[in-house]
Amino acid sequence: MKLHEYQAKELFRKAGIPVPKGFLLTSQEQLTTALKEIPGPPWVVKAQVHAGGRGRGGGVKVVHSKEEAESAVAGLLGKSLVTPQTTPEGVTVHQLLLEEGVEIDKEFYLGMTLDRNLACPTMIFSPSGGMEIEEVAKQSPELIFKEPVDPATGWMPYQTRNLVYRLSTLPPGAAIKELGTIMKRIYDLFVANDCSLLEINPLVITGQGSVIALDAKMSIDDNALYRHKDLAELDDPREKDPLELMAEEANINYIRLNGNIGAMVNGAGLAMATMDLIKLAGAEPANFLDVGGGASEEMITKGFEIILKDERVKAILINIFGGILRCDVLARGVLKAAKKTAINVPLIVRLEGTNVEEGRKILEESDLDFLVAKDMAEAAELVAKEVKTQE
Ligand code: ADP
Ligand code: MG
Repeated sequence: MKLHEYQAKELFRKAGIPVPKGFLLTSQEQLTTALKEIPGPPWVVKAQVHAGGRGRGGGVKVVHSKEEAESAVAGLLGKSLVTPQTTPEGVTVHQLLLEEGVEIDKEFYLGMTLDRNLACPTMIFSPSGGMEIEEVAKQSPELIFKEPVDPATGWMPYQTRNLVYRLSTLPPGAAIKELGTIMKRIYDLFVANDCSLLEINPLVITGQGSVIALDAKMSIDDNALYRHKDLAELDDPREKDPLELMAEEANINYIRLNGNIGAMVNGAGLAMATMDLIKLAGAEPANFLDVGGGASEEMITKGFEIILKDERVKAILINIFGGILRCDVLARGVLKAAKKTAINVPLIVRLEGTNVEEGRKILEESDLDFLVAKDMAEAAELVAKEVKTQE
């Protein structure tokens, strides 16, 4: 689960990580109060959307007067914002953060994530702040400094020195001390909230020499949300893909992708293998969908409905290995969904396992039009052929 910048900054503030003073705006009327409460000019008006790269997309505006602030708010609130990280249609801006404008002397990148190879949280620090870290990693990997953390000891002061003393120009002593405090607090915040990502880009040294987080990104591990009820409440469903939201509510693992072959599979491993086979056959999956081992008829119906709602889907592949989920349950679920929504794309089915005969019989006796594949490879080839003939 992703948090908004203003939500993450609130948690930073509580954890003693310095952030600019800010005011959340949901309407233009609140601006007068906000401008009175927040020191400035200059102020910064920032779109609160989950996508990054807002600066480059025009979602972060520095304003120097009340009039400029008004027109920045009018230009962003309720409008669509396109950034390098959104789809070309962009995302709707429902909220803005008005912040005090900070005078920047030096920008850094500071992040923490799990290093899957080392199996521990890792701090990432770079003098190339304000730029997309993926770009820095590609173009100048030597400017990315990493420091894995032993969970038994937590962040140690020498680790701050390991990172900071690799800078070609050292910040003043007081700033190094503040950087160390922030690094320790970031680590503690990361662990305490079961984060999968915590990122400050940029972390800046101001004209006055103090260190402050100008941006804040925070993602919480969904599997740990049950023990962070307060964080779960910060979830903003407006930021999510409507189909992914539907799936989430039905407890289905679904991720929307860019291709045009809808796939319904049980088991994450089988779903991954199915996507590989679709690609091998020269086509692209429209989604990852794992209905899970113990899926009920309702879940199958819902899963199939979600695939049918995706207007990019040109053909559908159902690949089920009946184990705990029986093939007859699947067949009935598919038929139920088909009754609700007209299927006007080719359907390829590969069924195997528990009650497979019964499942096939239910499908065959229905008026559903579909092709049967004898194995996974054939299923992928058939479905790829179907989309190719439509091109
Ligand atoms: P994004 O990463 O989505 O582009 P940021 O919050 O990093 O959004 O803002 C983009 C840039 O705007 C930052 O790199 C920084 O230079 C500037 N900026 C952001 N907030 C402030 C602020 N409060 N004061 C001054 N400059 C800011
Ligand atoms: Mg940023």
